[in-house]
Amino acid sequence: MSEQELRRKIVAVGKRAFDYKLLSGTWGNISARLGKNMVLMTPSGFDKSALKPSDIILMDLQGNIIRGKWRPSSEVPVHSLIYKVREDVNAIIHTHSHYATALAVTGQEIPVLTSEFASAVGHKVPVTRYVMSGTQEFAEEVVKNLGEGKAVLLRNHGVIAVGDSLEDAFQTALLVEDEARTFILASSLGYAKPLDIDEVKRLREAYIRGYGQEKRRLNLRF
Ligand SMILES: [Zn+2]
Repeated sequence: MSEQELRRKIVAVGKRAFDYKLLSGTWGNISARLGKNMVLMTPSGFDKSALKPSDIILMDLQGNIIRGKWRPSSEVPVHSLIYKVREDVNAIIHTHSHYATALAVTGQEIPVLTSEFASAVGHKVPVTRYVMSGTQEFAEEVVKNLGEGKAVLLRNHGVIAVGDSLEDAFQTALLVEDEARTFILASSLGYAKPLDIDEVKRLREAYIRGYGQEKRRLNLRF
C-alpha cells in the first residue's frame, strides 16, 4: 500500500473511531507500518476526527521523524517497540474507550465471553501494571503483556489494540470495548461465565481459516 493511501486510511480510522466513541477529545493515537521499517503516526494533541492526510507523520522505527510538520504522539516508544518485536503487526490503535478503561482502572482483565470475541480476538485481554505512559518502561510493560495477542489493557489508562491491518486493529479495539461492556453488564446480572478455553481455541481456528470471508462480512472499509 502506498504512503498516501495509508495516510488517507489513518484519517478515516480516526473519524470512525470517533463515531464509535473509541476516542474522545485529543486523546488516543493511531499508527500503521509502511514497508518494513517505517511508521505513519498521528500527531500529538490533535482531534482525531478532524485530521488531514498531510498531518500524519512519517518516522523510522527508532522514532526519528522522516517527514511531518507536527510533533508525533507521545506514545512513539510503545508503537515503535511493538513494530520491532511483532513483525505480524502492521497497525496499532490506542484508545481510552470507556468500558475497557473502567476495567483497566480496576485492574480486571476481560475474559472471553462471546463467540464473536473468541473468533476475532481469541484470547482474554490482560492488564499491565501501572507505568507512566510515554516511557521506555511503559513500552516494555505493554509488549510483555501483549505477547502474541491482539490487545492489552493499560492499568489506570486505556487500551492498545494491534492488527495485521488498520481494519484489523480497528475491529479489535471495537470488539474489546464491546466485550468489556458485555462483561460489566453481565456481571451486574450475576456471574459472567467465560467460554471454555477449548471452545475459544476452536472458534479462533475456524475464524482464521475463513478469515477473508469474515473480513468481507464485517464490511470494514476505510
Ligand atoms: Zn493514552
